[in-house]
Amino acid sequence: MQVDDLQGVLRGQKIAYFSMEVGLTNDVPTYAGGLGTLAGDAIRSSADLKLPLVAVTLISKKNYFRQKLDSNGRQTEETNQWHPEKLMTMLPNEVNVQIEGRTVKVKAWLYKYQSITGGIVPVLFLDTDLDVNTQEDREISFYLYGGDERYRLKQEAILGFGGVRMLDALGFKVRKYHMNEGHSSFLSVELMHKYAMDKEKVRELCVFTTHTPIEAGHDKFNYELVSQVLETVDLSVLKQYGGKEKLNMTLLALNLSTYVNGVAKRHQESSSKMFTGYEIHAITNGVHSHTWTGEVYRKLFDKYLPGWVIEPELLAKVDLIPDGEIWQAHQQQKQILINYIKDVTNIQLDPEVFTIGFARRATEYKRATLLFSNIERLRKIGRRRKLQVIFAGKAHPRDEGGKRLIEQIYTYSRQLKGDIEVVYIENYDMDIAAKIVGGVDVWLNTPLRPMEASGTSGMKAAHNGVINFSVLDGWWIEGWIENLTGWSIGPHPKENIDDSMYFTKEIEDLYNKLEYVIMPKFYDDRDRWIRLMKNSIGKIAYYFNSHRMMRRYVTEAYL
Ligand SMILES: *Cc1c(COP(=O)(O)O)cnc(C)c1O
Repeated sequence: MQVDDLQGVLRGQKIAYFSMEVGLTNDVPTYAGGLGTLAGDAIRSSADLKLPLVAVTLISKKNYFRQKLDSNGRQTEETNQWHPEKLMTMLPNEVNVQIEGRTVKVKAWLYKYQSITGGIVPVLFLDTDLDVNTQEDREISFYLYGGDERYRLKQEAILGFGGVRMLDALGFKVRKYHMNEGHSSFLSVELMHKYAMDKEKVRELCVFTTHTPIEAGHDKFNYELVSQVLETVDLSVLKQYGGKEKLNMTLLALNLSTYVNGVAKRHQESSSKMFTGYEIHAITNGVHSHTWTGEVYRKLFDKYLPGWVIEPELLAKVDLIPDGEIWQAHQQQKQILINYIKDVTNIQLDPEVFTIGFARRATEYKRATLLFSNIERLRKIGRRRKLQVIFAGKAHPRDEGGKRLIEQIYTYSRQLKGDIEVVYIENYDMDIAAKIVGGVDVWLNTPLRPMEASGTSGMKAAHNGVINFSVLDGWWIEGWIENLTGWSIGPHPKENIDDSMYFTKEIEDLYNKLEYVIMPKFYDDRDRWIRLMKNSIGKIAYYFNSHRMMRRYVTEAYL
C-alpha cells in the first residue's frame, strides 16, 4: 500500500522545493507565519497548475501551541498534539544523517496535496522521532524554530542533508532544488559531495530565494559548533562557500545557486546591497487566490469571472461585477467575521461601523501598536466617526517583546472603551487569518522598514475587496497607487529623511489620512469607496497571486 502511495507521483523529473515551514492547512500546523503560508501557497498553485513539484520540510510535530490570553492579554501556550498518522502515510524508507558523531535515522511522512484540477504535489515531512534514535535526536523534528543554535543547526542538517538523501532513497529524479530561505542550504553541500565537488554542476541544479532583508536576520553558525555537530562534513567546503569566520547559510546558498531572487523589488535592491557581486532577481510573492478569497466573493467571481481560480488574471475584469453586488458580498463576509467574534469573545461589533484589521505574528518589527502612538488623537477620531479595530497574532513562546505588544493592545483597548471597540482574537492561524482578511474594511500594515521583505496578508485582503493602508515597504511599494489602490503611511523609501522626522511624519500621516481621507470616503462617498474595493481586486489581486508567482519561477528559475 505504501509503495502504491508513491506511484503516480514519482513520474518524470521534479522541482524539489525545500522549506523549513509549510502551511498547508490548519490540520497540518507546521508553520509559524508568512514563510510557511507562502510555501503552502506555492504548493497549492503548483498542484493547480500541474507543475512537477515535490516539497520537503520537517514534521515539527510539537510546533503547534494554542495561544491563551488572560484578561490582561498575557500570553501562555498550551501544547496541543496533532496526529500526522491521520493525514499522512509514513514511508518505509530510511536515511541516515551524522549528528555529533551519532547516526540519526530519518523517515518521511507523505502528504499528497491534491488540487481540484487533478494535479498532485507530494509533500515529504521528515521525522527523526523513531525508536532507534536517542531521545535527544528524536526531538530534532519536534519544535519549529525551537531550542538553541545547536538545535537549529541539527534541524537544518536534517532538512538539507536528510532531504536530498530521502528524495534519492524514494527514487525521485530532481531537475532543480529550490531553497525557500537559507534554512535548507546544506542541500547544496550534499550535492557537492554527490557530484564529486563539481561546483558548476551543483550551481546548475540550485535555485535560492532569500526572505531576509536585514543583515542580522541571516542564519549564522560558528565553526566550532559546526564541527561538533557535523563532524563528518568537510569544513573546507563550508568555509569556501559559506564564509570564513562564520557559516552563513545565505552565503552558502548564494554561492552554490545559479538563480537567486528576493521576494519583492525593494527586497531585491536591499539584498543586492547586502551581498554585492551576486546577481539577485526579484519575483514578488503572491497568495493562492482560491484559498484566500472568502466564500461569498468566490461565488461572485464564479458568476461574473468564471475561470478566475486557474487564471486569476481574470480578476482584472472586476468591473463586470455590479457595484451593489461587490458591497453586498463584502457586508456578508463582514457579518460572518462579526458573528465569529461574537462567538469567541462575546463582543458584538457593528457591521455598519468602519473596521480596521491587523493580524500577523506578534513580533516587534511589525509594530502592532503604532496605531495607538497618540491615543488621545485616536480617541478624537473615534468620537467623530465610529471606528472598530480587530487584532490577532501569536507571539513566539520565547519572544517577550512580542508578548508585551499583545498586553499593550489590551491596555489600549481598555483605555478606549466606549469610544473605540478594539478586539483581540485568540490563537491566530490560517483559518482565522482567512476570516479577518475577508471581513474588515481596511487592512493596516505598519512594519518598521526595511524589515518586511514582502508581506502577504495585504494581498489576501485585496482578494476580498479590502483596501490596504500600509507603510511603503515590501510588496506594497509595487501594489500602491495612492487613492486608487489604497493609501501609504509615511514617507516614500526614496525620500531622504532622518529617523526622528521619519517617525513623526509616519504617525501624522496615519492619523491624518484616517481622519480626513479614509473614514470620510467610507461614510460619505460609498461609490468612490467601492471603486477602491474593485481596484483592490482588479489592480492588486489579479497580479499578487501565487499562480503568477509560480509561473515566473518556472520560466525564470526552473527552466
Ligand atoms: C498570511 C499569513 C501570515 C503572513 O502575514 P504577513 O502580513 O505577511 O506577516 C502569517 N500568518 C498567517 C497565519 C497567515 O495566514
